[in-house]
Amino acid sequence: GRKNQKLNIFFFPFLAYGHMIPALDMAKLFAARGVKTTIITTPLNAPFFSKTIQRTRFLAQEIHIETIEFPSKESGLFQGCENVDSVPSQELVIPFYEATATLREPLEQLLGEHLPTCLVADMFFPWTTDAAAKFGIPRIVFHGMSFLSLSAWESIRLYEPHNKVLSDSEPFLIPNLPSEIKLTRFQLPEFIRQNVNNSMTKLLKEAEESGVRSYGVVVNSFYELEPAFADHYKKVLGVKAWQIGPFSLSNKENKEKSQRGVETSIDEEECLNWLNSKKPNSVVYVSFGSIAKFSASQLVEIALGLEASGQQFIWVVRCGTKNGDGNEDWLPEGFEERMEGKGLVIRGWAPQLLILDHEAVGAFVTHCGWNSTLEGVCAGVPMVTWPVFADHFFNEKLLTQVLKVGVGVGVQKWVRWEGDSVKREAVAKAVKYVMEGGEEIKEMRKKARALGVMAKRAVEEGGSSYSDLSALIEELRALAS
Ligand code: UDP
Repeated sequence: GRKNQKLNIFFFPFLAYGHMIPALDMAKLFAARGVKTTIITTPLNAPFFSKTIQRTRFLAQEIHIETIEFPSKESGLFQGCENVDSVPSQELVIPFYEATATLREPLEQLLGEHLPTCLVADMFFPWTTDAAAKFGIPRIVFHGMSFLSLSAWESIRLYEPHNKVLSDSEPFLIPNLPSEIKLTRFQLPEFIRQNVNNSMTKLLKEAEESGVRSYGVVVNSFYELEPAFADHYKKVLGVKAWQIGPFSLSNKENKEKSQRGVETSIDEEECLNWLNSKKPNSVVYVSFGSIAKFSASQLVEIALGLEASGQQFIWVVRCGTKNGDGNEDWLPEGFEERMEGKGLVIRGWAPQLLILDHEAVGAFVTHCGWNSTLEGVCAGVPMVTWPVFADHFFNEKLLTQVLKVGVGVGVQKWVRWEGDSVKREAVAKAVKYVMEGGEEIKEMRKKARALGVMAKRAVEEGGSSYSDLSALIEELRALAS
């Protein structure tokens, strides 16, 4: 059957921006090599992809979209709740994950109809390995994590070092890694820390098991960024993996590169004008990704900390705190008037790539989501690390300890939506340090810049990621014939 047909790869990202963004960028990478690609998603998530694809006109013929219905209402969510972004409360996050299993039947139908060469599916869809196998289609896993995180997760799973300490705040060593990485139970991703037998734990177990049985793993990273961990993951742990990132660099050719199908909450022109009026390296960009929301008291600490740092800033505040969407009562009295011209607050969605790549931006305060971490690396700026949940604490270690291009703001504990874990003094200190700091920061800035150059080289013809992608495409071609 599939002989002589064009290579045709299906991508099936999880329904969250932190997963959809890299999946789309990954599809673009393949499409740019002449591979026919199809993205599978739900009707309400489809515009995110189609808008971007339309803008990148030369790719439009190579990237297709197939939608499958998501029974959100029938699953106990509200009608139209098709993205983690719109899940109204933390209690509904697990039901949302569970509901995604209903996508199996329609997915199988699509696979049977189109018989793609390969299915690249998110780690949160563990059932896709078997679904694809029914039709003899290999499934490749996309975790959206670094080699360091993948290796650390595997080590913790094998050796359970977190069960050998006496308290949640006692640091333990993650065994057998190429670098000495210590964490506390408080900082472990929720999916590892949970000892309870809930369905999230079950899902992650399934994710691990189906990962082992899958064809391989694609990693959004590049070899030069974490060579010891890439080698460890592939050679010591023996996982068949290809590193083909940073995916965000596939947006290079796209003029309106930042929008990516999400409406930005600030006019891009306005944002650019603001940045153009600033000196190089004089603005700190502060963002916590697409999911993390803080309590009102934490937002106040950030605001006053930024003010006290004396630095110019762009600060992205996700719409709505836990205490009420759109409610801006939390802003300190007169804050925005005082910060006029000095600080720009973006409520909602910021054109992150556009901002990070601007020469006025001299540092990045990041929650260490893997996409943001890599985007900071590509921009070549030092970072202030402020991990919130998931794999963020691993990424913080990579930035501060392994690469030495970041300073921690001092988060001790996994917090989400409640409390103020970081005080204004710590915010001010870290921001001032990374923007003004002396010799140490100069050194850090040099390293960061060098990494940014390496990242760009990796995806260019002849670069490590470029070559690994060629190898993967070749291998899939051979499979298909
Ligand atoms: N992002 C953006 N504008 C925003 C917030 C996020 O463009 O206002 C993008 C960001 O560039 C990154 C992604 O959304 O590509 C967030 O992914 P990440 O892994 O950093 O964090 P998550 O949102 O999954 O916590």
